[in-house]
Amino acid sequence: MQSNLQVEISDAEKTNIINTVWDVVVVGGGMVGAAAALGLAQADFKVLLLEKTPPQLQWSNTHPYETRVSALTRASENILRNLGAWSGVVSRRGHAFKAMHIWDEASSGEVHFSAADIHEPNLGFVVENSVIQAAIWDQIVLSDKITTLFDRTVGELSLEEDFAKLELEGLGHVQTRLIVGADGAQSFIRNKAHIGLETHDYGQCAVVGCVQTELPNEDTCWQRYQKDGPFAFLAMDEQMSSIAWYLPLEKMEWALSLDDASFAKQIEIASEGRLGKILKIAEKAAFPLTRRHAEAYVKPHLVLVGDAAHTIHPQAGQGVNLGLLDVAALIETLSNAKLENAHKDWSRFAVLRRYERWRRGDNAIVQRSMEGFDWMFKQDTQLKNSVRSVILPLANRLAPAKNWLMLQALKGREATPLLAKGLVH
Ligand SMILES: Cc1cc2nc3c(=O)[nH]c(=O)nc-3n(C[C@H](O)[C@H](O)[C@H](O)COP(=O)(O)OP(=O)(O)OC[C@H]3O[C@@H](n4cnc5c(N)ncnc54)[C@H](O)[C@@H]3O)c2cc1C
Repeated sequence: MQSNLQVEISDAEKTNIINTVWDVVVVGGGMVGAAAALGLAQADFKVLLLEKTPPQLQWSNTHPYETRVSALTRASENILRNLGAWSGVVSRRGHAFKAMHIWDEASSGEVHFSAADIHEPNLGFVVENSVIQAAIWDQIVLSDKITTLFDRTVGELSLEEDFAKLELEGLGHVQTRLIVGADGAQSFIRNKAHIGLETHDYGQCAVVGCVQTELPNEDTCWQRYQKDGPFAFLAMDEQMSSIAWYLPLEKMEWALSLDDASFAKQIEIASEGRLGKILKIAEKAAFPLTRRHAEAYVKPHLVLVGDAAHTIHPQAGQGVNLGLLDVAALIETLSNAKLENAHKDWSRFAVLRRYERWRRGDNAIVQRSMEGFDWMFKQDTQLKNSVRSVILPLANRLAPAKNWLMLQALKGREATPLLAKGLVH
């Protein structure tokens, strides 16, 4: 589908881009980079946003369901609301889920989390990634503080004392006080800045897609733990759910090669038929899963956000939520630095380090806690099965612990940035 965004630029616009000293150049206009560009522009920074592929902003209700979706927390909803982008989600498509039900292949334990128990209207929203991105871009195109540039190869990067320089194909070098690397898991900016990466191969893949089920999902996200990895239905509409089926990596080709009838059968087995028969399967895709954590989030005049800084096992649905928290923390840090002392450079390294200290430890905690959880459910010895069979029913009965977990997942931890807390405008 063609984008309705302007891709070609005039010679005068090219000259302007090269002659401007930008406050911020954001590389990558996915969900996280677009949110960073928009929020920084709203905080009065002059932004150049580079994106490879122009997003599609036109919307029709007959738009087929996409394979890539995210479960957004309340903190992410707040960030998008504060940026003025939430209405673009609501006017397109997103589904509030009111409960989460977890059960286990090896024990009879089940845990049910319900929004009603913590007096909340829902536990979050399942939204297609392209919808989130388009809703943010709706606001970007209205901003006179953001210039956008598409499909421009990024070349050499130099980080100098007072600013950074970035080479853009066919244009020359742009100068900026800060480069924000938001170019995803394979970040070119991270590599060019020689920032090391800790990686861990999960040895798993995620098979994703949208399915129509015989039974309604009851606005519930269903997750079943099994030896190969978890299986989940994420509620998209009454009988539409997005699936996340985690398998050992060596089974990825097999899963993608299944015809629709065999694929449906396998989904029914993996979900123990909780939502009845699979009636229809939209497009499917699969991704190998790797944990990545950048050894540093900052260099002089450069910061990393989102997947460029960290990737995590998607079973807890935290990736883009953490990325949006990075963005909110970055906006708050830079805005405060600008207000604190107009005579001091807000982009100095000491300020960037505040952002890194705020986010890197928090992201590492979430990454590691996911692994502990995954480990527990991968074990299949008699002893560990009995631990699971005790933990799940116990967790289900411990209402205070359950409610605390729900609130942490929904609203974030104590060090939550202002934008994530509620309406600030
Ligand atoms: C199977 C699966 C399920 C997931 N489910 C969830 C979930 O439920 N909830 C959740 O929070 N997270 C989830 N995630 C994680 C989430 O999808 C990612 O964390 C999120 O997409 C990261 O967004 P990003 O903007 O940082 O990076 P990306 O989405 O990768 O965006 C990077 C952008 O940069 C652009 N770009 C790249 N290189 C350049 C360049 N050189 N110049 C210009 N532009 C460039 C790309 O075109 C792209 O638009 C899931 C991930 C997977 C794999």
